[in-house]
Amino acid sequence: MATALQPKPEPVRTTCPYCGVGCGVNAVPDGKGGAALSGDTGHPANFGRLCSKGSALGETLSPATRLLYPEISGQRVSWDEAIDHVAAELTRVRDQHGPQAIAFYLSGQILTEDYYVANKLAKGFIGTPHVDTNSRLCMASSVAGHKRAFGADVVPGCYDDLDEADLVVLVGSNTAWCHPILYQRIQKARTTRGTKVVNIDPRRTATTEGSDLHLALASGSDTCLWNGLLVWLADNGMINAEFVRNHTEGFAETLTSARERAGSASKVAFHTGLSVDDVENFFELWSKTARVVTCYSQGVNQSVQGTDKVNAIINCHLATGRISKPGAGPLSLTGQPNAMGGREVGGLANMLAAHMGFSERERDLVSRFWSAPNLVTGEGFKAVDMFDAIERGDIKALWVIGTNPAVSMPRADAVRRALAKLEFFAVSEVVTSNDTIHAATVRLPACAWGEKDGTVTNSERRISRQRAFVEPAGEARPDWWALARVGQRLGWKNAFSFANGADVFREHAALSGFENSGERVFNISALASLSDEAFDALAPVQWPVVKGTEGSKRVFEDAHFATPSGRARMVPVARALDSDAPSDNWPLTLNTGRIRDQWHTMTRTGLVPRLGAHISEPFVEINPADAQAFGIQDGGLARLETIHSAAVVRAQVTDRVTAGSVFAPMHWSAENSSAGRIGALVHSITDPVSGQPDLKATPARVSVCDASYFGFLISRTPFSGLNDRDVVYWSRVQISEGTVTSMAIDGAASSVRRLADLFLSDGNRIEFTDEQAGVLRSAVMRNGRVEAVLFLGPQCSETPSQWLKDILAKDFLTPAERRAILSGRQPDGMADEGAVVCVCHQIGARRIEAAIMRGCTSTDAIGRDCKAGTNCGSCLPELNRMLAATKRVLAVAE
Ligand code: SF4
Repeated sequence: MATALQPKPEPVRTTCPYCGVGCGVNAVPDGKGGAALSGDTGHPANFGRLCSKGSALGETLSPATRLLYPEISGQRVSWDEAIDHVAAELTRVRDQHGPQAIAFYLSGQILTEDYYVANKLAKGFIGTPHVDTNSRLCMASSVAGHKRAFGADVVPGCYDDLDEADLVVLVGSNTAWCHPILYQRIQKARTTRGTKVVNIDPRRTATTEGSDLHLALASGSDTCLWNGLLVWLADNGMINAEFVRNHTEGFAETLTSARERAGSASKVAFHTGLSVDDVENFFELWSKTARVVTCYSQGVNQSVQGTDKVNAIINCHLATGRISKPGAGPLSLTGQPNAMGGREVGGLANMLAAHMGFSERERDLVSRFWSAPNLVTGEGFKAVDMFDAIERGDIKALWVIGTNPAVSMPRADAVRRALAKLEFFAVSEVVTSNDTIHAATVRLPACAWGEKDGTVTNSERRISRQRAFVEPAGEARPDWWALARVGQRLGWKNAFSFANGADVFREHAALSGFENSGERVFNISALASLSDEAFDALAPVQWPVVKGTEGSKRVFEDAHFATPSGRARMVPVARALDSDAPSDNWPLTLNTGRIRDQWHTMTRTGLVPRLGAHISEPFVEINPADAQAFGIQDGGLARLETIHSAAVVRAQVTDRVTAGSVFAPMHWSAENSSAGRIGALVHSITDPVSGQPDLKATPARVSVCDASYFGFLISRTPFSGLNDRDVVYWSRVQISEGTVTSMAIDGAASSVRRLADLFLSDGNRIEFTDEQAGVLRSAVMRNGRVEAVLFLGPQCSETPSQWLKDILAKDFLTPAERRAILSGRQPDGMADEGAVVCVCHQIGARRIEAAIMRGCTSTDAIGRDCKAGTNCGSCLPELNRMLAATKRVLAVAE
């Protein structure tokens, strides 16, 4: 009998939780807590594409690491008890020390609805202004630059401009790795319409591979370059005099200032370390290309001069009138998925709510709208100042939601010590273990991505729905719900009586339009009367969204800006401020950033084995000249130090960084490395306007980390012993059936034997030792399966083959495989693939090199040969780099 066909379940349309591109995702739940995920072809941010991180989202659902129940001091409690306790503690601290002893530290990962309730509770009811967010570390300088230039925090353009530009300038942005889907859009424009791409970055990155010109300027010299461009525009008759006259103010002072500070192209070249030819080529290209988009990201924002850098860029766009036009304008690329949503509700310490500040009129308006009994009177502590205040003991109670400041903040060791001083510390989290939650007395289980329901806003002002498609794990609840319950328990029943996320969103939308006759650009009041069903069905839309419109692709198209005069302000900017300069003791400059396949502190992406396959250990990039000077070997271990802390990481000797600079990624934490927390090394100097920390230029030094044994442990189950005094380095990465821990031991053979016995217990042991050569290889088998494999030897380059990593997945080993374990090589003699480049198809570098040697001369040809690069496309820049490297080698050989 034929069975009736089951209708296919409808996909739930949601939004990726990682970067500020804000890609649409379709999720088809499998009914068992998982879901099949794909890019949403109808979402205007990505048109169906997802990068390596987004493609792997399905592998992060329902992990065993979830925090399932509320806890107080390690004991499970009910939500009622937890809410009672939080309310009682906040009341106690407020009564004993005043409301300003309470702070909230939020995240660009949480939803706008969560942000809104936290901000309302703190600034309107508890009466503390100390609400800040990890977005302070991400785009506060862009916010400040926008406000100075436009009178409001508005990104004037949109992603479509990238498709329509003839020149895209990427400043301080490794777009290929940090905003991969936008990078793919730019590359498409490059091949289809001949768009030129300029990459301005002290480092050569994956982004450089797809650029026509790379300006590796000296760290911190950006304002000099942009001042120089303004002068060039003026001297070559390229100023749009009509636009400047009618729509800007401050042009003459700005140009005079730029002339004093930058002047000629040769002066710019001198100060930036660039060649005169490169400077002139860039000026020529920019000045002669009407359709130019300048994108900027953390290399601009995370600087002691971040706001000035933003304004220096905007000055050039204003001087030429290249703003809010198809294919032309400045475009800030936001790091996090909802950094902009946080800005909208006022989740930064220097904003009140709905893009309003603290003027008498704005305070009065918000106070009446909220019926707020305790509206704050002014700005609160920005992130760095907030943790300093905790360290001093001025802040006694802290509620952290959805972020991991003990890893990500500058001077993260000091932050960790400060957290231990709090009288009351609550954390709302999705995981049971990270560097921050260990210090918390109250742990509140939050809904994770896939369970949350609300909105986020991406870098082009587009509000998209994050929709739930699986049930919350355990007793996890939305963050807005926990905050509202506490508000009610504190006595403000009506103000926090939200029935659902739609209710919160409606109030947020209504506030944006409250007594707003056009003076506030952020206005989504047309969405204030959405029914629950209409909110559920809300399609992605760009704000402002006022009655009679369907959103706004671009803002300021009429050249009327949000300043009192209606004119955009051009802002004179100085050359680099005196920062923390290198010295004899600290001769290098530490730059920090991200890698392709990990997100923030890896609490989600770190769970996915294939994402850990591309780069599996913390590392430092160091120029060959510096490596030689400090005795550092490529692949060896380096001790990276600043006056704040030290890390031990793998050295990559490369000319991607210039002499005098080193680069290290910010993702590793105490959860997965012995000393890979780079935030701990970074100074906490901030931009004086935006308060954003300078994460790109801390004086540092490197030295060799000595060890007598190097190697790795592949293990199915957790093990102890890594904190042994002789283990001088370890870092751990997830593989499909366990973990691989790279390690270095500095001790005698007896110490290695002792540690081997600790790591490899219970089971049948097979072992090979060569005491003279200092080699120990050992494996433990149980019921025919491998439980753990330990390889130690004198070579720092000892890494496991893919075959050995896969061995934990085998339930049965052939005799040949069993014999091959201690050789580390697969028994059929096939060569290992090498480091994984294409994570989607798990294609290693050696297979790709072989394809190139067989005659593949393009990424398309490589894709046809071995499938690498044919899914998400995140590895295409690396394939291009490999193609270019092979071309160079062949050219030399000819
Ligand atoms: Fe997510 Fe990647 Fe899109 Fe960013 S580019 S939103 S990480 S899929």
